[in-house]
Amino acid sequence: MKTSLNATHDPHLRSWVASANEAGTDFPIQNLPFGTYSRGPRHDRRIGVAIGDRVLDLRMAKLIDTDDMNELMAQSPAKMSALRAAISQGLAEGSARQAEWEGCLSRQYAVNLHLPCRIGDYTDFYTGIHHATTVGKLFRPDAPLLPNYKWVPIGYHGRASSIAVSGQQFPRPLGQTKGPNDEAPVLRPSQRLDYELELGVLVGQGNAMGEPVDMAQAEAHAFGMVLLNDWSARDVQAWEYQPLGPFLAKNFASTISPWIVTMEALAPFRAPFTRPEGDPQPLPYLDSPANREQGNIDVELEVWLETQAMRDAGVGPERLSQSSFRDAYWTVAQMLTHHTVNGCNLQPGDLLGSGTQSGARPEQAGSLLELTSGGKNALTLANGETRTFLQDGDAIILSAWCEREGFTRIGFGECRGQVLPAR
Ligand code: CA
Repeated sequence: MKTSLNATHDPHLRSWVASANEAGTDFPIQNLPFGTYSRGPRHDRRIGVAIGDRVLDLRMAKLIDTDDMNELMAQSPAKMSALRAAISQGLAEGSARQAEWEGCLSRQYAVNLHLPCRIGDYTDFYTGIHHATTVGKLFRPDAPLLPNYKWVPIGYHGRASSIAVSGQQFPRPLGQTKGPNDEAPVLRPSQRLDYELELGVLVGQGNAMGEPVDMAQAEAHAFGMVLLNDWSARDVQAWEYQPLGPFLAKNFASTISPWIVTMEALAPFRAPFTRPEGDPQPLPYLDSPANREQGNIDVELEVWLETQAMRDAGVGPERLSQSSFRDAYWTVAQMLTHHTVNGCNLQPGDLLGSGTQSGARPEQAGSLLELTSGGKNALTLANGETRTFLQDGDAIILSAWCEREGFTRIGFGECRGQVLPAR
């Protein structure tokens, strides 16, 4: 794992794209996240980099010769680092490429953002220990945290086909549910539809089947990170989850943000990986000096709710909670290493979800299940509406950013999804 700082992280660096220098932008020249976009329905998909409120066409700027993100993701970190340096130099104030590259820019609001890459496989981990504990209490009051939690980075194989980019709209899912007093289950629209605040790791270079990736190499296989909303039907989940884990409660829709923030862009925001006193240290294959020193990443996370009533009244969304990826129990490197320890092969574009990121305090919860204590305590919103779970028309917006003294703040953009009435 190598997260060295270089000229692309220099906080004094400014861009000739004026909007990239504005305070609070998610996309200053120190970020440079990758996405896939088209200029309109009849235009080809291109790979772009977000800079301020613009997107730079990398092929038109003669930086790459592919429109296929997965191909780019398979490149070595050294090649990707060289590409990042070239983009940074070309977009920097005073660059000789300004005149040529001005024609390679589009306004972000005027383009269509697509899924950034083909996601072949999706695995969702469970690294949020506060989420695991709180939810465990609701499902199993006697044994909230199962004995394996502090030893194994728990995960399950999710479904890739229903993952879509920010802006996703989906009908309320139907499913089998059975209340505690019902004699038999019924099929009906979920009454306990929820979101989950997560980060996603998109795999870069793959590993061959049978060849595990060790901790020292793990982050060389991570291309970057996105926001992930793992929509969940809690009533379906409660009835179906034993003994094999989540199934139809989770695979009807998952939303990710369009811009992949690279591991290199995240380098200034690393933090030590530590375990609370009394907790077991990771097994040797999940341990490394670099992981202990800087395995964590300080990403601030937020969830916002926009209801139909808010849209009708012309008011903005309301923030439901705030947490940090710093509180995750397992790191990106540990997820990657554990996933491959048995010889499982990861491929460019595979998505690894972090699991719901809830903080230690109740108001830092990353799902409604936690915020409302399983639907028992409704939230009252500023406009007087109440919520236990999501209603039709509700939109959930996730956002994230990194901030540290001496560095430029970078953001992840928006991950937005909306619930439509059941069909
Ligand atoms: Ca999840």
